[in-house]
Amino acid sequence: MKRQVYLDNNSTTPIDPRVREAIEPYLTTVFGNPSNIHCFGRDAAEGIAQAREQVAELIGAKPEEIFFTSGGTEANNWAVKGVAIALMLEKGKQIITTPIEHASVLASAQYLERNGWQVTYLPVDSYGLVDPEDVRRALTKETALVSVMMANNEIGTVEPIKEIASICRAAGAYCHTDAVCAVGKMKVDVAELGVDLLTFSGHKIHAPKGVGVLYVRQGISIHPLIHGGHHEKGMRAGTENIIGIVGMGKACAILKDEWPEHARRMLALRQRLEQGILSRIPDVRLNGHPEKRLPNTCHFGIAYVEGEALLMNLDLEGIAVASGSACSSGEPEPSPTVKAINLPPIMRNSVVRFSVGVDNTEEEIDYTIDVLERVVRRLREISPLKPSPA
Ligand SMILES: *Cc1c(COP(=O)(O)O)cnc(C)c1O
Repeated sequence: MKRQVYLDNNSTTPIDPRVREAIEPYLTTVFGNPSNIHCFGRDAAEGIAQAREQVAELIGAKPEEIFFTSGGTEANNWAVKGVAIALMLEKGKQIITTPIEHASVLASAQYLERNGWQVTYLPVDSYGLVDPEDVRRALTKETALVSVMMANNEIGTVEPIKEIASICRAAGAYCHTDAVCAVGKMKVDVAELGVDLLTFSGHKIHAPKGVGVLYVRQGISIHPLIHGGHHEKGMRAGTENIIGIVGMGKACAILKDEWPEHARRMLALRQRLEQGILSRIPDVRLNGHPEKRLPNTCHFGIAYVEGEALLMNLDLEGIAVASGSACSSGEPEPSPTVKAINLPPIMRNSVVRFSVGVDNTEEEIDYTIDVLERVVRRLREISPLKPSPA
């Protein structure tokens, strides 16, 4: 079989075998509808209650503050639009966010903008960092919500959320953070952070796809987006995705004990990869913050090489990575994050993201460095971007 190396863990992760085991009964015998009061329903409801406790415990929340959704995308939509709608009369129609958020936050903000809200996009520096002082300056009496991600999924930069949340609290605005990429890789504790709302997703932490969480601090005003039955205390209608929810709970219980060890292993692999690339391949640039960065993520600009071409050539060798541009219209378009960090023009369409997982090996990293060196050399030989020697 062809060799495969998966280095795209910020896109999704494989299901942990212990999560699969926890889900198993819910695929067979425990099939009841948790809304029903007979024993079939009660068994299912018990699974959800346990998962809610497991999730709450990982982030230092109360179980009543945990709401299950269909994923990170829905949780982000809900935080941004649900708070905006709840506070439009009470507070005003202003929200604050950044240009480097996940598409689900950016598109929700743009939806509000089209409907009469004022959205302020904070600047970020060349590492992708938000300056908390800029949050302070942007806040007004009308600000309902500030949404800044905890860690960027592309370049891995970790934002000063604690400082931002404390500024928001003093100003009477809610603070939401998208912690999808942070959970499981660093300490995420809602009390310590001081945030009011926090998003994370199952499939980024070795649980199934199609399940996510919105933490909503007790007493926060938020409207539901999905109306219907009384599920999730009337805040999110629809018969629960028990399989996903139980998987999410188990994944959180595992991470509660294991995340520091995961983070340590991922950091060692990431550093090995970075050092190999920087020492063996000329004209590369490591993006994101040098220290304030996820332990698993490194993002490079590789001059004179087209990111998409690099991705496809690595794929031919069985190595899965991400590039920072979406080629939707023939012309590659840099992602909003890549645009916001002002890369040198020569690197803007030449970016590649490696996001390691806890199960990667040193040997896989070394193979990746070897292949990358070879592929980059070959692509540069035929590159029209490379200046001919003077
Ligand atoms: C993956 C991701 C999301 C979306 O989560 P889904 O569960 O895939 O909808 C949101 N934010 C960030 C930072 C992500 O990486």
